[in-house]
Amino acid sequence: MESLVTETVDVGGAQNIDEVMQKVAEHKGCGTSGGSGKASCGTAAGENDLPQEIWDKVKNHPCYSEEAHHHYARMHVAVAPACNIQCNYCNRKYDCANESRPGVVSEKLTPEQASKKVLAVASTIPQMTVLGIAGPGDPLANPEKTFKTFELIAKTAPDIKLCLSTNGLALPEHVDTIAKFNVDHVTITINMVDPDIGAQIYPWIFWNRKRIFGREAAEILTQHQMRGLEMLTERGILCKVNSVMIPGINDKHLVEVNKAVKSRGAFLHNIMPLISSPEHGTVFGLNGQRGPTAQELKHLQDSCEGEMNMMRHCRQCRADAVGLLGEDRSAEFTTDKIMAMEVTYDLESRQAYQAQVEIERQKVAAAKNAELNTLAGEGNEDVKILIAVATKGSGRVNEHFGHAKEFQIYECSTKGAKFIGHRRVDLYCQGGYGEEDSLETIIRAINDCTAVFVAKIGGCPKNDLLKAGIDPVDEFAFEFIEQSAITYFKRYLDKVNSGEIVHEERGDATLRQGAFITA
Ligand code: SF4
Repeated sequence: MESLVTETVDVGGAQNIDEVMQKVAEHKGCGTSGGSGKASCGTAAGENDLPQEIWDKVKNHPCYSEEAHHHYARMHVAVAPACNIQCNYCNRKYDCANESRPGVVSEKLTPEQASKKVLAVASTIPQMTVLGIAGPGDPLANPEKTFKTFELIAKTAPDIKLCLSTNGLALPEHVDTIAKFNVDHVTITINMVDPDIGAQIYPWIFWNRKRIFGREAAEILTQHQMRGLEMLTERGILCKVNSVMIPGINDKHLVEVNKAVKSRGAFLHNIMPLISSPEHGTVFGLNGQRGPTAQELKHLQDSCEGEMNMMRHCRQCRADAVGLLGEDRSAEFTTDKIMAMEVTYDLESRQAYQAQVEIERQKVAAAKNAELNTLAGEGNEDVKILIAVATKGSGRVNEHFGHAKEFQIYECSTKGAKFIGHRRVDLYCQGGYGEEDSLETIIRAINDCTAVFVAKIGGCPKNDLLKAGIDPVDEFAFEFIEQSAITYFKRYLDKVNSGEIVHEERGDATLRQGAFITA
């Protein structure tokens, strides 16, 4: 039986930390082949791309491995209500069941309730491998509740990886405790390394029992973030940096942030779009600050990819999210329901289930590689198309068009099919009928895609998609996504080569901002 305690002591203590960090450092070159099809580790990397020690840490972590996110689930427990900074994109008072963004929760939990919830979820969803504390405030502004929760879970569910997300202000003073509690993945939200830019994002921080405003606040924050990041990586803890892309404020500056965090040993950089809508009641929402378009975000992520590993599959989850990334099963695990549940934590059956997941995962990888070989020697390296995919997970095209709450986006080129993001959409099928308003928003969300792969689609949306120049494709229903995308791309290339079609850029798309419309 694998125990979390043993696993973490191996990495943080008896095993040589320098050796592990050396491997992380050596590994930073991965994904630096100029945006080629080479796997960008931390996102698309597989077992053969990473040193064993790092692979062991990321292989079942849906946020640290793009491949794992199709198969493994995570959950957040909302035990940390207080926050020590104010961000202009955040309003924690907001609560809406259809809303999915950081800081939003339906109910807050005590550490004991959180521990019971983790056991209930782990028993129901055997592929749930990661427990994160991400708010709704800052976990390190609530250290007793945060660490008590970790302590309880490490005792009862030792195979679950523990994760923490923080703004970094209180990080340096808690790094040793984080290491002691076997938390081996930490996310720090870093939106700037320049206090003048920081002053436009953070109106104040609360530090040393006083509120500090403006540039001075941003200067303290950035110093603590950088120091905290260095201290974590020195201890062999894998760090992911989240940055919110705010057009006109830090969009160009994030390239500098990327360099700063890379040089301090961050493993992964996750550049996320600002979510900003007046109904959220945030400063940015109310003053009309816009978020980036899909192509603006992609260009920034692409330009940083040469520097370090980029995460493209983040769903900007609620602080109480449960399930695979992109799905939210939190409504099945409300406090009332979990308190009434009889929970048996069966480690053996969890491990047996996960062994099956690994077999499925190997099949996905093998199918992709076999199909990839068929692209060998193809010219036309400049031709790239995007494909939107309706999927419920497991790396397959297995969702109906009308039931999709998001589409996963793959970029196809002669290098293969690469996951580059997702687009959240309103449900098209509302109570059995197609919703025209939703269809318009879906088309805007995937407007830059050449095709959309679905398990099934009705005649009406099919026609509207065709009119918009997007090819609705259901012939790959229940097949593996990447293999199918490569097959489609090859046919597309053949048509370009024969002159049957002319390849053209498809333009931009809109990223979803407000709450969903769901059936
Ligand atoms: S917010 Fe992003 S990093 Fe955090 S759990 Fe969700 S997908 Fe993972």
